[in-house]
Formats: sequence, C-alpha cells, structure tokens
Amino acid sequence: MNPAKPLIQFTKRGLYVSQADVYIDPWQKVKRALITHGHADHAHPGMDHYLCTHSAKPVLQHRLGHKAKIDSVKYGETTTINGVKFSFYPAGHIIGSAQIKVEYKDEIWVVSGDYKTENDGLSEAFDSVRCHTFITESTFGMPVYKWKPQAEIFAEINDWWKQNKSIGKTSVLTGYSLGKAQRLLQGLDPSIGKVYTHVSIENTNQIIRKQGYKLNDTIKISNHQNAADYAGNIVICPPTATGNPWMKNLGNVSTGRTSGWMTVPGAGRKRKEDRGFALSDHADWTGLIQAIESCEAENIFVTHGYSKIFSRYLTEKGYNAAEVKTEYEGEVHTIKESK
Ligand SMILES: [Zn+2]
Ligand SMILES: [Zn+2]
Repeated sequence: MNPAKPLIQFTKRGLYVSQADVYIDPWQKVKRALITHGHADHAHPGMDHYLCTHSAKPVLQHRLGHKAKIDSVKYGETTTINGVKFSFYPAGHIIGSAQIKVEYKDEIWVVSGDYKTENDGLSEAFDSVRCHTFITESTFGMPVYKWKPQAEIFAEINDWWKQNKSIGKTSVLTGYSLGKAQRLLQGLDPSIGKVYTHVSIENTNQIIRKQGYKLNDTIKISNHQNAADYAGNIVICPPTATGNPWMKNLGNVSTGRTSGWMTVPGAGRKRKEDRGFALSDHADWTGLIQAIESCEAENIFVTHGYSKIFSRYLTEKGYNAAEVKTEYEGEVHTIKESK
C-alpha cells in the first residue's frame, strides 16, 4: 500500500477512489457512485450516476425513483474506469448485496458494505475475495454476538406462532422491509397459517417476485380484513409500524422482534415487543473473523459498529488494523425504518 495515496480514501463524502473519480456508497452528492446494496445508509439519493449488481437494481430504482440513472453488472464482471478495475461479489446480506473489489496495478482492496457469512437461501451467498486491504463493518464485533443456526431460530419463531394460534392470538413479527422481511417470510412454516404483510413490505416483495425470486405466498393487509381474519395467522411489518393505530384491527396480538441485538438478555428490557429472536442479516463475531481470515488481507479498516474494540482486537492479532468513521449503520438499536 502506498501510504501517501491509498487506493481508497476516507473522505467527507464517502469512500473515494481518486484514480477513477468514483465513490463507493457515498453519503453526499457525487458524480459516480458504486453501491453495495439498497439499504438507505448505503444508497443515498442525488448521485448523477449509480452502478450496482443486476439483482440489486430493481429495488434500488424503486427507492431512488425512476429518474435515477442506474447501471448494473453481473457478479464477477469487471468494469474498468481509468485503469482501475471494479467488480462485485456476493456479500450475503440481502438480495443483490455486494462486496466491491477495487484493483489497480498490483493492489486489491475490497469494500464489504454490510455482510453475513451464513447462507440464508435467498441472498446470493457470501463469497470470500482475496485482497490486500479489506474494509469491514463491525456491527456485531464483540465475542458475545454468536448466532445460533438460523434453522433453530426459525423453529423458535414457528413454535411461538403455533402457541399464539392455539390461544387465538395474531402473531406480529417485525423486520425491515428490504431483506429481513423476505428472509422471515421464507423461514415461516406456511402449514401453521396465513402470512399477512404490511404494505411497505408487500411493495418490496412484489419487486423481488418480478425479478424471478420465488417468495412464499402473502396477503397484503387492507381495511377489508378484520380481527377474525387475522386470528391465528401471522403479520410481518416494519419495526416502525408496531404500536400504530392500524394494529387495533389485528385483534389480540403477540409481538416479536428479530434482531441480532436480542442476543443480549438486557436488550429485552428495553424492547416493546413480547418476544425477541436473535436473527440478523449481519455477520456475528465468528463470521467477521472468518471473513477477515479468508480474504487473507493484511490491512483491515473497520467501519460501523464496535469499530474501536474490533480494530484493537485485530491489531493484537497482528493485523495492520484501523478504525474508520463513516455514516453507515449496522442493525439499528432504536426502532427506525431507514433500512
Ligand atoms: Zn444493509
Ligand atoms: Zn448498513
């Protein structure tokens, strides 16, 4: 790495590749933006031009509006800009999410955006890319965050749903409209009952179905339904929607939240839902370490999350690691639907 002029610079607009005059996931207006995935903290509006993967594009276009100029590429396909080669590799975070590989002369950097190493069966599975410098998130960069296999978590969720059904309750499960909601949908057992979806989730589902992904059946929530329709069934809604007046229609409910933060017992006291399930679209501690080891990078830049603790840990392990401030978010603690 040339310390005087690193291949990627951390600027006030975002991650900047000056040789190509390109930004990756910028948070301020720039000419050319390469986007790892469609969550709001990575895909901001107002860029002159966007580049993402084919599978990320439909949702990105929906979120940024039809006027946004978005080009897309296949995973693994190379785009060369002023001698710099850019290519996208699966990040396993949500459908279409990518790590972006930046190669110039003999140097390779990888920007991972948000990622998870466990294959959820819907997102393109995380693919390790060898590089010299790896930019990693650290949302769950503490040893206490270790996920149970997702099959176990889904068994817990389905049991909770069955129990609610047996006493005539409606189950309400929260998840971000893009990513988590579809993952929940695919993990729910349709033999238990019907799956209703909040409009913001159903809009995203429709885009994803149009792309050719096979999502399980859903029924969009509407004013024509009443408590008798919902009883025993399950509703998936964004975290922001719980507690709002529309929920009165659902009858007697039990609410559940799915988030990596549910790992820590103390998190339960602050939450407004009845049940918490530790399911995340981000890598746990083990996943972060695996990703770092398998890319074989010597230099690690640690962004959003436990960046200080995690970069210090990596330094102790012999990596050339440093913490970097960005405007990316991990899995938000507070209830917010910007994802
Ligand atoms: Zn994300
Ligand atoms: Zn993020």
